[in-house]
Amino acid sequence: MEIERFNATPIHRLSEKLNNNHFYIKRDDLIPISFGGNKARKAVLFFQDIMFKGADCVVTYGSSSSNHCRIISNIAASKGLQCYIISPSETSQTTSNSKMIKLFEAEVIRCPISEVSKTISKKIEELKNQGYNPYFIQGGGHGNLGTQAYVDAYKEIKEYENNKYLCFDYIFHTSGTGTTQAGLVCGQILNRDNRKIIGISNARRNPYGRQVVLDSVNSYLNSLEKEHVTIDNINFIDDFVLDGYGSYNKDILHTIKQVLLHDGIPLDTTYTGKAYWGMQEYIKNNQIINKNILFIHTGGTPLFFDDLGELINE
Ligand SMILES: *Cc1c(COP(=O)(O)O)cnc(C)c1O
Repeated sequence: MEIERFNATPIHRLSEKLNNNHFYIKRDDLIPISFGGNKARKAVLFFQDIMFKGADCVVTYGSSSSNHCRIISNIAASKGLQCYIISPSETSQTTSNSKMIKLFEAEVIRCPISEVSKTISKKIEELKNQGYNPYFIQGGGHGNLGTQAYVDAYKEIKEYENNKYLCFDYIFHTSGTGTTQAGLVCGQILNRDNRKIIGISNARRNPYGRQVVLDSVNSYLNSLEKEHVTIDNINFIDDFVLDGYGSYNKDILHTIKQVLLHDGIPLDTTYTGKAYWGMQEYIKNNQIINKNILFIHTGGTPLFFDDLGELINE
């Protein structure tokens, strides 16, 4: 599998017309690696590092619905590297992603969520004792390399704006570990741009969720020896989390159906569909009108198919 830098992902108009705003979407779901998404964008950088460091196996963490684990185990398999996935036994239902992870012959090690970090350390120690050189990737591709992936995406957005003589007033996306948001915010800071980047949380609540984004931003800025920023720079919105990770409602299903019908784009109930709905609500609540708005499609196409039955019954 080629994991070299891919071309900038497409940005195009949406049919959405809410409050006379102009809506655009950046299609990171079309990154040409293992069904794409933000985890593919991050994985490219992690695997360059893996090759550079000459690691011979990969250890990471995620639930059975994890896009990150699908992509990491897919690329690892293509490189002939054994992949170990520490997975919380609380979320072990079968999904399209978990089936693919099995297909790629990753070794899934289940443990209670409270024992995850202990289990990771134990596995890494064990591999080292056996003479291996394991590479550890944090869950979701968190860390400065993951942040770098979205500083790069921010550059692509700038290029699009320069070519089309337009400027996005808002960038919306779904925020989980906050790495995607941290990268976008760092891109904005490095370019001294004045716009709003709005992360719609898919799980975490504030103040914790917002703080993790801020810590990632400052950790990245630190690596460049740049000045730190404050919490006011982080718009991490937890109003649309509902009952937490994976929780959704009828309005989200309706939104997913509408976007599929009018734009032919698949969204899902855990990440992108939830955030798209959250974006609509946020725009209504804050009376945002006549603006240029970019939504980033962060991927998760296999989850769309997991949700398809629910959509039909909606
Ligand atoms: C993991 C994931 C996210 C969350 O990204 P973070 O960088 O962890 O905030 C968003 N969308 C999709 C489809 C994901 O798989």
